[in-house]
Amino acid sequence: MKITVWNENRHEKTNPVVANNYPKGIHGAIAAFLKEEGHDLTTATLDEPEHGLTDEVLNETDVLVWWGHKAHDEVKDGIAEKVKVRVWDGMGLVVLHSGHFSKPFTKLMGTGCDLKWREADEKERLWVVDPTHPITEGLDEYIELEKEEMYGEHFDIPAPDELIYISWFEGGEVFRSGATFKRGRGKVFYFRPGHETYPTYHNREIQKVIKNGVKWAANTNTPTPTRGNAEPLEKNSEEVKE
Ligand code: ZN
Repeated sequence: MKITVWNENRHEKTNPVVANNYPKGIHGAIAAFLKEEGHDLTTATLDEPEHGLTDEVLNETDVLVWWGHKAHDEVKDGIAEKVKVRVWDGMGLVVLHSGHFSKPFTKLMGTGCDLKWREADEKERLWVVDPTHPITEGLDEYIELEKEEMYGEHFDIPAPDELIYISWFEGGEVFRSGATFKRGRGKVFYFRPGHETYPTYHNREIQKVIKNGVKWAANTNTPTPTRGNAEPLEKNSEEVKE
């Protein structure tokens, strides 16, 4: 499977805490654990030409993983549009944390995607609410993160096709933190954890969810529907009479 991990890669350059958490960037950390699954990994970042997402890269990508935060506006509309269309065509998309406000995600959701947030070193407990789902394979019924940013409801997304995780935070809020959506032939998995100042992507359980999410989002050679005006497959009754 060909996986591309996209990251805006800005906090890593300006905040020593983030650089210390992720010396090779958030994209580098995510690519490293996904490589353990035997996938073919590429990374792409905002400051590369075409944000590293050329037609060639996108066309060859089975699943795109997206992390962005403070530079969503710098992502070119044309590139975000291409990502959206590739999802319609069957590319999987795993959107992490603050990617809820990224252009590809908001385009695909069609809603505001806003939420409540607070940075206060709060404990997060993510509860599995769909223990039949392959994204939860090999995981316990909850994951605990000692310190994370709080995201709270209401999260302005369309009703998810499947809800996998709900988070509880120390301050009292809850959040739909693992949700799936189908768009065209493509599958989208949104997964909440991963604020840049915490070492969340080094947590083995979080890594496992993302590994499972990538596997789930990949298109397994399903049929490509033909759309538009179409000739009937059977002769209609008028013709049969003649
Ligand atoms: Zn954050």
